[in-house]
Amino acid sequence: MEGSSTEPSPGSSRTATTEGSVNANDSVKDASASPHNLIVKWSGKEIEIEDINGLKTVRDLKQLLQSKTGVQVDRQKLLNLTYKGKLAQDDCILANMGLKVGQKLMMMGSLEKDIESVDIPPEERPDVNNDLDIPDDDEEPLDNREVYLNKIARRVKEYRIHVINPPRPDKKLLVLDIDYTLFDHRTTAETPVELMRPFLHEFLTAAYEEYDIAIWSATSMKWIEEKMRLLGVSSNSAYKIAFHLDYLAMISVHTPKYGVVEVKPLGVIWGQFEQYSAKNTIMIDDLRRNFLMNPQSGLRIRPFRSAHLNRQSDCELLRLGGYLRKIAKLDDFSNLNHRKWESYGGKSHSSKHRRSQNSSGTDSNNSKH
Ligand SMILES: [Mg+2]
Repeated sequence: MEGSSTEPSPGSSRTATTEGSVNANDSVKDASASPHNLIVKWSGKEIEIEDINGLKTVRDLKQLLQSKTGVQVDRQKLLNLTYKGKLAQDDCILANMGLKVGQKLMMMGSLEKDIESVDIPPEERPDVNNDLDIPDDDEEPLDNREVYLNKIARRVKEYRIHVINPPRPDKKLLVLDIDYTLFDHRTTAETPVELMRPFLHEFLTAAYEEYDIAIWSATSMKWIEEKMRLLGVSSNSAYKIAFHLDYLAMISVHTPKYGVVEVKPLGVIWGQFEQYSAKNTIMIDDLRRNFLMNPQSGLRIRPFRSAHLNRQSDCELLRLGGYLRKIAKLDDFSNLNHRKWESYGGKSHSSKHRRSQNSSGTDSNNSKH
């Protein structure tokens, strides 16, 4: 699971805030009482710095990080380490920065070997992705469907979706995954924008005309917000995100072939917003297993990996935007077979095709096409 097991529960960072705040006037010596740890997130991993009390400056911290990650000090960027509202310089005194116990920092920075190996084809790279997924042609049945529906009902009741921008009347709903869908979260880079999927903002701007947009990622809310901020999504004035969902809204299900997997059941959203249903919702994710509870509403996108290599050629979001625009005119998505999206997305003009598919009646199951 992408990060779900290592993320803190919501609220734990709040505890750390009250326990570990360091007054800006404290000297280096005053902060040396009990161990003060930090977590540094880098390239999909979490690195723990057990105690920063022995470290004086940001450079000392970076030197320690170099020994732990191999990323050279001058290539490291600690994105949310700020001092007086600005990115902290290397000579900033750590004890003056109000770092909290257990605080998480996000680091960008490439390894020398990665910088040299950018031209190696992905299949020869060591960082192959092992995330389990279900093949496109597989129809995996679920055991105990009833049990899962009860789990979803519980999420509907207990998981509070925080609305950032209210749903608009007569809009459809687009639910987007982050990692490998909008952002290559495993490749190292100097800036987050290098890892952003091409045409992200164009895609969201166009989609926003017809769709309310939700983000659902298998990580904690804090990281979703941070990633959206770093990618410039939350501050873009051309579109608005309606709400975010994190790993706590997911449920685990059992499949005979793949065992227990975590999925993103759209029922959690549909149960909380009357205007959204299988008729007007589409969910985009690079992992088909996330759709197990609602396969009809899911569209599997090719994962965006090896950003440096694929940044010039990846136009998946551009083509997908074309598909979303075309289907937005339909009253009911529940007959569509999104597996065929490429045949009527992008440049193709098979609206006749699509219409005949849509008029085939709500009872037919197009996912068998
Ligand atoms: Mg993903």
